[in-house]
Amino acid sequence: MAFTLAVASGKGGTGKTFVSVNLALAASTPVLLQDCDVEEPNDHLFLRPEWEGERRVSLPVPEFDMDKCTLCGACRDACRFHAIAILGDKPLLFPELCHSCGVCLAVCPTGAITEKPRAFGTISKGRRGKVRFVQGKLDVGEARSSPLVEAVRAEVEPGLPVIADCPPGTSCPVVAAVTGVDFVLLVTEPTPFGLHDLDLAVRMVREMGLGAGVVLNKSDLGKGEVEAFCEREGLPILARIPFRKDVARVVSSGGIALEEIPELGRVFGDLWERALREGGR
Ligand code: SF4
Ligand code: SF4
Repeated sequence: MAFTLAVASGKGGTGKTFVSVNLALAASTPVLLQDCDVEEPNDHLFLRPEWEGERRVSLPVPEFDMDKCTLCGACRDACRFHAIAILGDKPLLFPELCHSCGVCLAVCPTGAITEKPRAFGTISKGRRGKVRFVQGKLDVGEARSSPLVEAVRAEVEPGLPVIADCPPGTSCPVVAAVTGVDFVLLVTEPTPFGLHDLDLAVRMVREMGLGAGVVLNKSDLGKGEVEAFCEREGLPILARIPFRKDVARVVSSGGIALEEIPELGRVFGDLWERALREGGR
């Protein structure tokens, strides 16, 4: 299996996208960058890939045959996600609540339920130079992002190392994104909020038995609390990226910092090599 690196953070706004995109461009080999932040994918805004295609992603949901349905309510009672109601003379599905578990189909005594696909998001693919790119985008109004994160993570190419840019936070979609990776980079900032959310992220990766290291963004702004935490926890700090106005300017204009500030190439190149080593490659 090719090396897979997750880039995660306990909260948004710490520079996770910045690290993911620049790391992909600085890697010593071709890589596949997966934007798993399916509620708000924004790697493409910086990478500006040449798009190569897209496909809709679906999950099966129940469909009711009213010629066979007796309105017994067994499907409604069996659905632990409360996705079915019996309203008047027919069962009604709330598709956003459906987890596609198939239980209703199994319990229906008359065989009135079949499954039909229901699209809930889109996967797009592209490339920029040696970086292959895939992103998921959840449809507006959809509540469940984990299945789409899993679909993005499943988009691999033989032998190509993967950088998975995770959703922010520590909830189910993040767990879906980091499952099966070789190593996790936790991007944080030296602020009290950054430290609090790093603590949560560290607990998550430890619970999952994953190795992790820290990227300290805007590293010169803090008072050493994050460094002290990392030392206590035995977490290696794999890169320190000082706050620089020229970097902030490039990022805020949607540019690639690495291309406009060449010394960042060494920072991200070193980070890639260290992540490979820490991940056992
Ligand atoms: S497939 Fe599962 S979650 Fe969806 S309606 Fe049926 S029982 Fe509920
Ligand atoms: S379990 Fe089958 S028969 Fe009973 S209400 Fe649901 S669809 Fe109709």
